[in-house]
Amino acid sequence: MVKLHRRIALGTVLAAGAMALYQWGVENGRDGRSLGLVESANAASATVATGWSRTGTAPDRGVYYPGTEELDPDEMRVIACGSGMPMPRLKQAAACFLIELGNGDKFIFDMGTGSMERIYALGIPLDYIDKVFLTHLHMDHMGDLPAFYIYGPQNNRSKPLRVWGPGGGGTRPEWGTKAAMENVEKTWAWMTGTLAGTIDTRSFKMEVTEYDWSKVNNVIYEENGVRIRTIPAIHLEQAVSFLLDWNGMTLAFSGDTVPNRWWVEHTQGVDFAIHECFLTPNQAIEKWSFSEPEALNALTRVHATAALFGKVMALTRPKHAVAYHFQNDSDTLPGVMEAVESVYDGPVDYAQDFMVWNITKDGVRTRMAVPNRESYPTPPLAEKIIDKTNPYIPPAWVNEGWAEEAIPFVEQIYTDFNKEHGTNFKFK
Ligand SMILES: [Zn+2]
Ligand SMILES: [Zn+2]
Repeated sequence: MVKLHRRIALGTVLAAGAMALYQWGVENGRDGRSLGLVESANAASATVATGWSRTGTAPDRGVYYPGTEELDPDEMRVIACGSGMPMPRLKQAAACFLIELGNGDKFIFDMGTGSMERIYALGIPLDYIDKVFLTHLHMDHMGDLPAFYIYGPQNNRSKPLRVWGPGGGGTRPEWGTKAAMENVEKTWAWMTGTLAGTIDTRSFKMEVTEYDWSKVNNVIYEENGVRIRTIPAIHLEQAVSFLLDWNGMTLAFSGDTVPNRWWVEHTQGVDFAIHECFLTPNQAIEKWSFSEPEALNALTRVHATAALFGKVMALTRPKHAVAYHFQNDSDTLPGVMEAVESVYDGPVDYAQDFMVWNITKDGVRTRMAVPNRESYPTPPLAEKIIDKTNPYIPPAWVNEGWAEEAIPFVEQIYTDFNKEHGTNFKFK
């Protein structure tokens, strides 16, 4: 009982500390900028903020409003569009990170369930985010990819979706990304088929590149000064970690893995390391209703529990680390932080959805993004092309079922519309 009290007390202190630290990070962007406040009312040398106005914009709002900040040519921006777990929750989608580069390229690393609406809430035209890289084919890392693909035409994507995922390496072909994506296309055959001739369906093309997941330092993408390599992970079979090299910087991203020697060897001192970090064994027992053996197995043989995340970061010393893939709440974070920071004292953020990082060679700024909760599709950036050579026509008897009483009303809608738009459409 005493022990429990002590744990709760320590947890509270850590939680308060974490909040204070977080607040500090949010307020000043961790770049030493002025907080925009009078530092001391009485001090003779008090600093007075400038740039504030009753009618103008605030000089620093401390958060990131998507679409309002230009990316410098040498800058990288990463946004957590899913920091969570295969256990669905409103607060955290499953694994998904958007990486935006100052050269205009954008990449999505993993697209777990729930992540798509986070991506849409950033208001980025879909033609700009046509490249998706999958570390492995668990639902919490690719579950929203079918929806992201199928929703293309309805959300003004005009380009084929490009997908990179594991295959080969001795694994069963039917378990590979090509087979999975072929089955996605087959699953939605009715939907894609019945849209023919009515909307621009060019984005129903999918270009799948299967990479050999077993290779070490395998270059799977090289375009426009950006290189993406894979190293194997230890997570059943077929899982990898990604290394993105651009502009003299390296970003490392683990999907799921236990501490592995490839990560330790190839991510030494990288600029930005995003790595899975599960809850502690006791938290898994308490929060997930896991048995003791289940908790130990999941957290040390399939995934990296918080202490193992800390150990991996201590072994590799990235310039900035990000822990994700756990339910990040006020009562779990202190325990996770305690486990991580018992072995690692470097800079680390504990990801939540919409955490955003601006990364340059000079350092990393961490903030929270303020997404648009009421997003609409962004407008098309290419002229819509509707292929009418083989349009879908529903069975005649279905259309003949139109309620006769409603026909004068629909004809009136056409009349009113034509009057307003100067058109001459007829209802058939
Ligand atoms: Zn997994
Ligand atoms: Zn996972």
